[in-house]
This record gives sequence, structure tokens and C-alpha cells, in this order.
Amino acid sequence: MEIINRRKRMMSVARKLRREENRTIGFVPTMGALHEGHLSLIHEARALCDVVVVSVFVNPTQFGPSEDFNAYPRDLTRDSGLLAEYNVDYVFAPTVEEIYPPGFSTYVTVEGLTDKLEGSSRPGHFRGVTTVVAILLNVVRPNFAFFGQKDAQQSIVIKRMVADLGFNTEIVVLPIVREESGLALSSRNAYLDDAERQAATVLIRSLTRARAAYNEGEHTASRLAEIVRSSIAKEPLARIDYVSINDAETLDEIERVDDRPAVLSLAVFIGKTRLIDNVILGGTEKQVGANA
Ligand code: AMP
Repeated sequence: MEIINRRKRMMSVARKLRREENRTIGFVPTMGALHEGHLSLIHEARALCDVVVVSVFVNPTQFGPSEDFNAYPRDLTRDSGLLAEYNVDYVFAPTVEEIYPPGFSTYVTVEGLTDKLEGSSRPGHFRGVTTVVAILLNVVRPNFAFFGQKDAQQSIVIKRMVADLGFNTEIVVLPIVREESGLALSSRNAYLDDAERQAATVLIRSLTRARAAYNEGEHTASRLAEIVRSSIAKEPLARIDYVSINDAETLDEIERVDDRPAVLSLAVFIGKTRLIDNVILGGTEKQVGANA
């Protein structure tokens, strides 16, 4: 496994793999602090592609001024050990200056889709995400890039960008990996103390309750959202940012969940830590990827 810090080196390695060796490249972008969620993406990349490239880059442009960019967990030594165990071929771990050198002034914005949900709670977040993913896709030029359903809106926004800008990369979205408690794995779970970790299970408990109601015939979006809200309201350490039900492809708000898959998503503060989670309702799981 080679750890690469420079864009130029990453580009020439990837070019050689593609052109001279004719090998397919699978790419998994991450911000490090790796957990089983990331590893599930790497596992799938390993199964589908000849060569696996993982990027580890805490991207400053996707954090708001009062968010946790400085506090975000960083441990490249630990991450590299895990990536070597998973037979990753290349780790791309650039510095901030390598991605955003002096004079950098080009940003990628996906309109519309990024106005709601995470986009409205975190202004500028998706501009940072799409800009860095565009740069990374241009550097690595992978055949496949792997993303998690955990960040449901992010996957939709990236698919839109890839289609609109004509990137020659297939986007693969994989299911949410959870702890036994149901808590979705996240690098930010490291911020939670024991009581908060217990409280954080209210996210999946509330989503599961809504899904059970859906399965019993409640298809009105506002009532399903209300089930989630009232369930979270019982947890004193939790404060809702948003609960929303949207079409799983267009992210349009919907009134009823019928044949088309819908994503029931939420963002909740547990103490000071902001967590997100979602489940898919309606349609068949195959239409949008399975969801635990
Ligand atoms: P991050 O390092 O948080 O930027 O995440 C990198 C990738 O891993 C993104 O595509 C995430 O959606 C994905 N990911 C994060 N947590 C999980 C999880 N619990 N299950 C599946 N994928 C995940």
C-alpha cells in the first residue's frame, strides 16, 4: 500500500493503472477516523474493482465557521493500519494546501437539491462537498466511486453533479452500517459520552417506529414525521434540527408515501453533537439500495 500526498503523484499513478495496466479503479472518499461504515464501502470496492484508492481528507470547505473542523478526529496512522488490513492499494492523503493552493477560486455548486435538509441547516456545506469530490474525481478518475446511504442527500447531490458535469465514474451507494444498538456508525459518535451514546439510539428508535406505522398502513408524511418527532421529544438529551420525508430520488417534499421510495431523514443534536440518520420507506429496496 502506498500513501500519496501529492495530487500530481496520484494522477500519474492512476493514469498508469488505467492506461498501461488496463485496471479498473474503485475510489472511496473519506474524512478518516475510519469505522465499519467506511470499511463496508472499501470491501465493496475491493470486490468490484482491480485497484482500490481511498482518500483521507478532512475538507475545510464543507464545514461552517462554527462547526467542528478543528475538533474533527484525525489519526492517519491508525487509518493507514486499517486500510492496509483491508488490502487497499493507495491512500490519497493530501494536505489542505495541496487541494486548495494559494489562488484557488473555483467551486462547484449543485443547485436546488442542496437548498433543503442538510443544505438549509448547513449553508455552504454541499458547495464544499461537491467541490472537493469534483477535484478528487478529476485526480483519480475512478471507474467506480463508493458512497454511504448514511449521507442520503450527499449521494443524491453527487449523482446529480456526476451526471451534469459528465464525469466518467459510476456512483455506487451502499447501506448504512449500524452498531448493535441501531446507532448509525459515524466518526462524530466519538464526541458522545456514555449517556449521550445511549440517548443517540433515539434516532433509529424513532425512525423504526415510523417505519412500523408505515408498514401498518400510515402513509401520510406529516403523521409519520410526527411519530418521529414525538418519539425524540421523550429523550431529554435530544434536540431536533429537522425531520423530513422526501422523494428518495428528487428530494421533493411529499405528502403521502406511495409507490415511489421516500427517504425519512433527520438531524438531531445529542448534547452538542449533531447526528443524522435515515430510512427508506415505500418502493422496493432495490430502487434506492437496501437500508437497515
Ligand atoms: P465521511 O468520512 O464521514 O465523510 O464518510 C465517508 C463515506 O462513508 C461517505 O460516503 C459516508 O456516507 C460513508 N459512511 C459514513 N458512515 C457510514 C455508515 N454508518 N454506513 C455506511 N456508510 C457510511
